[in-house]
Amino acid sequence: MQILVNRDKCTGCQSCLSSCPYDAIIMKDDKAFINEYCQFCKTCISVCPEGAILEKNDTVTESAAETIAAKLDSHRGVIVFAEHTDGHIAHVTLELLGIGRKLADDLGVYLGAALFGASKDEASELIKWGADKVFHCPDQSLNDFNDLPYADVLSVIIKQYKPEIVLAGATAIGRSFLPRAAVRLKAGLTADCTKLQIDEGSRNLLAIRPAFGGNIMASILCPKTRPQMATVRPRVMKPGTYNPQKTGEIIEIKMPVDTSNRRQSTRVIGVEKGSLESNVNIAEAEIIVSGGRGIGSAKGFEMLHELAVLLKGTVGASRAAVDEGWIAYSHQVGQTGKTVCPKIYISCGISGAVQHVVGMQSSDIIIAINKHAEAPIFNTANFGIVADVFEIIPLLIKKIKEELK
Ligand SMILES: Cc1cc2nc3c(=O)[nH]c(=O)nc-3n(C[C@H](O)[C@H](O)[C@H](O)COP(=O)(O)OP(=O)(O)OC[C@H]3O[C@@H](n4cnc5c(N)ncnc54)[C@H](O)[C@@H]3O)c2cc1C
Repeated sequence: MQILVNRDKCTGCQSCLSSCPYDAIIMKDDKAFINEYCQFCKTCISVCPEGAILEKNDTVTESAAETIAAKLDSHRGVIVFAEHTDGHIAHVTLELLGIGRKLADDLGVYLGAALFGASKDEASELIKWGADKVFHCPDQSLNDFNDLPYADVLSVIIKQYKPEIVLAGATAIGRSFLPRAAVRLKAGLTADCTKLQIDEGSRNLLAIRPAFGGNIMASILCPKTRPQMATVRPRVMKPGTYNPQKTGEIIEIKMPVDTSNRRQSTRVIGVEKGSLESNVNIAEAEIIVSGGRGIGSAKGFEMLHELAVLLKGTVGASRAAVDEGWIAYSHQVGQTGKTVCPKIYISCGISGAVQHVVGMQSSDIIIAINKHAEAPIFNTANFGIVADVFEIIPLLIKKIKEELK
């Protein structure tokens, strides 16, 4: 369905503007115009004194259905965006190649990787990690992330090679530029997916992610547009398989001319790394000692830091602990924090709310310490200790120190 303004009838009286609860009506050339924020509530239709606002039902006719089917059929292949830092392929890229390989095999199509900047060596590595083709734009200005050029180059690749699926990590980079490319291509994008699969009959991508506060898993489809785009949470998918013998094609992509001009509007003039505290990457950690409200204070977190250092791990936290200001947000695990998948997750004074559990349930081993035996965290844990954290953690620290002597 669409809500449209008949420009011949619109007098520009503006009475519809304030009627819209979504601020979706603006003035364009002295006439009302309904933008993409429209939620089809239809309030404006009854408000217009000229009857200039109309509802248009886009019922799919047979010929329109054929046009859509032909458009969908002209797209084949899966492309993943290969994120890297200073030329080093990011772990999330390997995870995307893992799930991308599975989707491509299910569809019987090629798996591509889009690499911006970096070198030909990295492009070859992507092939060994599972890609059949690498679309490599070697322009060195792309070594540092910049929204506009990244969206430009990806759009060029998509327009020319017409993949049916495009994936990026739900990282600061993927989350930032993929929506720009999706808007330009008028493609659907599902953010923050935790599972991806193909609907056999239709070839549609089922982009699955938690919804409604993590209480349900929603399967989101974009059945009428291509490519189907999605960002995928880091550490949720398993990395692809490395095969040093695998061969593939490296296709060089030229930097679009527009992009060279555009570089003037947003330029990266330097990259500054944040402090250790704000820079912590719990998503990469192999051992996490995580604290919740049961830790009681910022001081309480000191013993968790001490244990984490002894175990060569890092400290995580529940949202309650972050909201209390005991630890920085970069440590938060869960639906609105990070998804982690360490070898060992030690949960200390955390109740086990669903929004926390979605972020840590794929850890290999979960050890929970909580003084209440009925705490829900024990349903997720492999090992449970019903005890006061202030007794158990100092004991653990003492024991480990004795072992290390
Ligand atoms: C939309 C939305 C998104 C959210 N996103 C997240 C998210 O990303 N991450 C997240 O963590 N939460 C998130 N939450 C909040 C979540 O619902 C919980 O409120 C939160 O996880 C609770 O944190 P907690 O377990 O530390 O605190 P509590 O629920 O208060 O639990 C504290 C636990 O500590 C135990 N305890 C107390 N003292 C001790 C002691 N001395 N020794 C041992 N155990 C002790 C208690 O028995 C209790 O089980 C979100 C909520 C919403 C609505």
